[in-house]
Amino acid sequence: MTMKVNGYAAKSAKEALGPYSFERREARPDDVVIKILYCGVCHSDLHNARNDWGRTLYPVVPGHEIIGVVESVGKNVSKFKKGDHVGVGCMVDSCRECEPCKHDLEQYCENGATYTYGGHDRHDHMPTYGGYSEKIVVADRFVLKIPSGLDLKGAAPLLCAGITTWSPLHHWNVKKGSKVAVVGLGGLGHMALKLANALGAEVTLLTRSPGKEADARRLGAHKVVISTDKTQMDSVKNKFELIIDTVPYVHDLNPYIPALATSGTIVLVGYLGPLEPMLNTAPMIMGRKSVAGSLIGGIAETQEMLDFCGRNGITSDVEVINMKDINAAYERMLKSDVKYRFVIDMASLKA
Ligand code: NAP
Ligand code: ZN
Repeated sequence: MTMKVNGYAAKSAKEALGPYSFERREARPDDVVIKILYCGVCHSDLHNARNDWGRTLYPVVPGHEIIGVVESVGKNVSKFKKGDHVGVGCMVDSCRECEPCKHDLEQYCENGATYTYGGHDRHDHMPTYGGYSEKIVVADRFVLKIPSGLDLKGAAPLLCAGITTWSPLHHWNVKKGSKVAVVGLGGLGHMALKLANALGAEVTLLTRSPGKEADARRLGAHKVVISTDKTQMDSVKNKFELIIDTVPYVHDLNPYIPALATSGTIVLVGYLGPLEPMLNTAPMIMGRKSVAGSLIGGIAETQEMLDFCGRNGITSDVEVINMKDINAAYERMLKSDVKYRFVIDMASLKA
């Protein structure tokens, strides 16, 4: 027995998203059935819908910043009950046995984590479909508790934008007084500013867009540097212990390396692919500087981030949209015209 669910899908890289009905599995003993209330719109949704990474399985129902309410649970589930507010991020399963999985790093599962959309369930091999839909069925181990008191629509982007920026802040031990920079003020960038500021870091935004300064300061930046202005970039030479680069497309990394302090790290979370122009290793070698990458975060780490946000009242700045406006939202996202995350009100799917 499966259940029929309505959602929105892209049927090819060239087509706009439109209504799509599909089947979800009936709850297994460890499953949670979730009625989706809100779903954030990540730039990865756009990359997937348009096959930017060349591996999209169509039709694709995007959406991995899911907030909902528990509708029912399987007989082995004790952690969640009907009526709880819960979240689902980018993963819905992993092998649970490899070294990364055993160390709460399911995102680096050596056998491949099961992504919330665009993957296949490990048991019944049905395609996974994401949060641009009415309901989702997820194993309890991959369901997150949403701290009470957090605004639900503002909490949705924590499930991807929040954890993707929290994980490197955490891994590189950012604390009070750390000097951190964030490249790009979009969905991930604005969460990086908020989280780094809340951890007590001295935070700088490196942006191409002069118009974002006031917002950046409101969101937690202490300083704003226009990344295309060499004089401004020279003013932050040897400064940052950590730079989190959220830019989604290929871009020149060379201007950022001199801004790293000795032993500093620039961690790429946005662009996936070969760098162009090539990276000059000389300034890295001369200052023991690293270029690294980072993927979302594990489930336990995601819960820690949510709990931190609950204690500190941190949510995303969102613009709520109706499901039918998703294609226009993608076009605005491409123009960096988002303040600072679109979130779909899933009640609008029925309208
Ligand atoms: P977004 O909201 O569109 O923000 C991206 C920001 O990057 C823009 O606001 C802009 O900031 C800057 N930017 C955009 N295009 C640029 C270009 N061509 N050159 C230089 N700067 C540019 O996107 P997002 O949702 O934050 O996602 C960012 C990237 O992270 C996407 O590629 C997404 O797929 C990826 N992602 C990765 C993970 C992971 O686990 N690693 C998780 C989620 C998302 P300014 O105007 O301030 O310069
Ligand atoms: Zn995402």
